[in-house]
Amino acid sequence: MPIPPAIPTPRPRCSRERPPRRAAVNALLPPVIRVLERGWLSSNNILFLEGEQASLVDSGYVAHADLTVALLRQALEGRRLTRLVNTHSHSDHIGGNAALARAFGCRIAVPAGIAPAVANWDEHALLLTPSGQHAEAFVHDEEIAAGDVLELGGLAWRAVAVPGHDNHALAFHNAARRILISGDALWRDGFGVIFPELVGEDGFAPTRRTLETLARLPVDVVIPGHGAPFADVAEALQRAFQRLDAFERDGARLGRHALKVLFTFMLLERRRLPRADLCRYLEGTSLCRAINARTLHRPVDALADWLVHDLERAGVLEARGDEVVALGV
Ligand SMILES: [Zn+2]
Repeated sequence: MPIPPAIPTPRPRCSRERPPRRAAVNALLPPVIRVLERGWLSSNNILFLEGEQASLVDSGYVAHADLTVALLRQALEGRRLTRLVNTHSHSDHIGGNAALARAFGCRIAVPAGIAPAVANWDEHALLLTPSGQHAEAFVHDEEIAAGDVLELGGLAWRAVAVPGHDNHALAFHNAARRILISGDALWRDGFGVIFPELVGEDGFAPTRRTLETLARLPVDVVIPGHGAPFADVAEALQRAFQRLDAFERDGARLGRHALKVLFTFMLLERRRLPRADLCRYLEGTSLCRAINARTLHRPVDALADWLVHDLERAGVLEARGDEVVALGV
């Protein structure tokens, strides 16, 4: 799950070097890879062209499933989508799985660590119920373990364990072309919320191990789960380490960040919310309750006021009369 761009993120210390323009970065990718960059509710969809066939990594959020099917139909240009691979189990990456399987008859491959939760459709383990998010149940056909090598777009991709944001998540690395598909383990500005740390599991140490693992890989271009592909990989890793350091120093900072991300995701889906429902959301969403109990310890009405004030200042929402209204997409 991403942090919307309107929420300020730490700036790199050295901003002298401008990142390559998006077109230039996409030019670094082989023509068999098409990145469908999405808004903030849905993860990117990464399409691999394989002659008359194609494969895809990640399927977006369920509320956008029809749009995802339409975008893919266009991008496929008559090819058959035969395989869908997920980086991890979060709603914005698996939400379109069922719709894509229905529309294209593709097989679905999931990280081995989430396979039991998918098979039993355990909405708690998939972080759906606790976060108040949704996905349509689907059946997986294959499991991928760390170290497995997949062929996508005629290229070999090694699955790399990237625990932290999700302790069962996988990234995919092509050493020959020096490309990393990072999911939510590394973005240009940070990484996905370290949820395990907020529910009493170890999240900081796995995140650090993951960043160290990624730093050792030969990578020239990263295709992240959210945002455009980027080539300033060393700078992104530096920012990610700095962000992790800051969270480790101050657990409340991680809690505030997580609540802003969860609340923004909900508001972007619903578009508007009566102000009176804000406390109900915070009290009724078990992950929000756990975050407050573990890191913030604030009365829920104070938390609601802070969220509205902070996100309004960041340009994510606007308080209009008795409602808060999403401004982003
Ligand atoms: Zn995620």
